[in-house]
Amino acid sequence: MLERSVTVRVKEGLHARPATQFVKLAKTFRSAVELRRGTVGANAKSAVKLMLLGLKEGEAIVLQADGDDAAAALDALADFIETPEAGLDPAGTVPLATADARSASFTPPRFAAEGVGGVGASEGTAIGPAFGFFPTVLLAPNRRVAPEAVEAEIEALRRALDTTTAGLLEAKLKPGVSPQDTQILEALIEVARDAELTGAVETAIRTGRDALTATLEAGRILAETFEKVDNDYIRARAEDVRGVTRALGLALSGTADVSLARVPEGAILVAEEISAWDFAKAPIAALAGIVCTKGAATSHVAIMARTHGIPAVLGARADLAALKAATTVALDGKTGAVWLDPDMAKADGIRARVAAESQERDALDAFRHRAPVTRGGRAITVAANLGSLKEIEPALKAGAMGVGLFRTELLFMERKTLPSEDEQAGIYAELARAFAPHPVIVRTLDIGGDKPVAGIEFPHEDNPFLGWRGVRMCLDRPDVFKPQLKALLRAATEGNVKIMVPMVTNADEVLRVKALLAECRAELDAAGVAAGEPELGIMMETPAAALLADDLAKHAAFFSIGTNDLTQYVMAADRLNPRVADLNRADHPAVLKAVELICDAARRQNIWVGVCGEAAARPDLIPIFLRMGVTELSMSPASVPRAKKTVIEADEAA
Ligand code: PEP
Ligand code: MG
Repeated sequence: MLERSVTVRVKEGLHARPATQFVKLAKTFRSAVELRRGTVGANAKSAVKLMLLGLKEGEAIVLQADGDDAAAALDALADFIETPEAGLDPAGTVPLATADARSASFTPPRFAAEGVGGVGASEGTAIGPAFGFFPTVLLAPNRRVAPEAVEAEIEALRRALDTTTAGLLEAKLKPGVSPQDTQILEALIEVARDAELTGAVETAIRTGRDALTATLEAGRILAETFEKVDNDYIRARAEDVRGVTRALGLALSGTADVSLARVPEGAILVAEEISAWDFAKAPIAALAGIVCTKGAATSHVAIMARTHGIPAVLGARADLAALKAATTVALDGKTGAVWLDPDMAKADGIRARVAAESQERDALDAFRHRAPVTRGGRAITVAANLGSLKEIEPALKAGAMGVGLFRTELLFMERKTLPSEDEQAGIYAELARAFAPHPVIVRTLDIGGDKPVAGIEFPHEDNPFLGWRGVRMCLDRPDVFKPQLKALLRAATEGNVKIMVPMVTNADEVLRVKALLAECRAELDAAGVAAGEPELGIMMETPAAALLADDLAKHAAFFSIGTNDLTQYVMAADRLNPRVADLNRADHPAVLKAVELICDAARRQNIWVGVCGEAAARPDLIPIFLRMGVTELSMSPASVPRAKKTVIEADEAA
């Protein structure tokens, strides 16, 4: 047996991606290879074991190899361990856990007076056949397997493993799969094939457990082990283990998962909840409406629904069994009302409303590409709020004049990998090109403890909305912030990119962002990478910013008022708490007073001011904003035509 002492130089240690690559390399040798840290060792051919060892950058380890090609194995593996970039893709993407997309836009929650309703999350009335999205619950049968049936049970496990890996391989080969998805699928295949999982299942089967029970148990235990590792990247693999366990379980029980890909035209999607990942697979244009028992107006599915103009009610109080049993479902996405199997008279009334709304939309169509100029001759920009490139098309169709708010946090949260600088630069540039010559305003990362992201350690906070979020977190984490700023500088060579900073409370934060931008520019220059000159604006959404607006305006090219947060902070009314929904009103005089302070300061300091909170789309508030001096309104794409009409018809002088 040969051994060699080496120091781990792989950037951030042997987390999932490098561990998978390391195992791939180790498997090319016939020798048995072990990797030891102190007295603890792991088989170098098991990605799961390696990940669980949680080797960090800078740690000293010993590599041992036993076999006829031991020397060559040690050379190659030591070389890998001592190379900082080993196992990372060139852009340096690192795996992260999937987190539910943090919400972005917000409509004051409205609870339906009627029956089983919930929060009106995307306006519009709909009625149609129910399409239930209730993923199969896998229960352990706890069946005893007689000794003579053990081999057959193990054979069933092997077949399930083959089916699962074949499915994952097939998914990997599908056209349009991104490099990140490929990495995720490879990691899943590695977990499915790893002896750590299958070995534990086999052992349990040999003690008389049935294959399904053994798989569910071994998967749960392994996922819990991952969750306990003191490393964000490794912890995130727990989700992969759960995914693979579920896939194996489905294969063993011969059940297929429901897929949103099969939603028929005109159906109402009913579910407990829908993840961003699942929703992305749905033929969105076919959906007539959405009803979920979980979620609120700010969840990802709500934002997507608003983007595509699909009526939605979330947080419905419907009994799950009743929801599953319903064949026809109707909803009002404005009031939050839901009707399960409405009687004929009710259904006729709802259909009449659907038809009237459709007529109203047709009438609004005429405004999609009209220039929104007020009667007084002032040209107003009506732009869209977006969270992903998929929303470009509906926004352009709706007549959006650029992007007033691109919520970048969704890029970080709806997927399992942190987007690299290169990838972000590509996304921002694509967005800019799609809307050129109109401007696109990209908001820097606005995440916080209310929806944490793995890879960024959020401490527990009693009041996350008053905590470490937005620019506060970004300034503390230049390792996360600088790649984004560099990507924005690079994309700004397109000429129409602007940067907006969220959650600002004082000028010092803006100056620090500017200093970081200068640092990023210098680094790009040194590397010979071209950078543009994006304007820097401030998202005005805290009372402090409103009160200090004159001071802030000296450091900004523009203001954009985030009425969603401004309302919750001015009114001291949590935007997610339906009990205080009545206080969470953007039209409250106190909120409008704060908006006026901001507009007055912008006028005095000669910068333009826009509104990008949900209030920007309200026909009752648009004339008020225009009178205060607002020249840009940004909203969900579906609201653009109506806002243009309102601007054209608004009486500014009133
Ligand atoms: C706002 O606060 O008004 C806003 C537009 O941002 P978000 O809803 O993403 O917090
Ligand atoms: Mg906000």
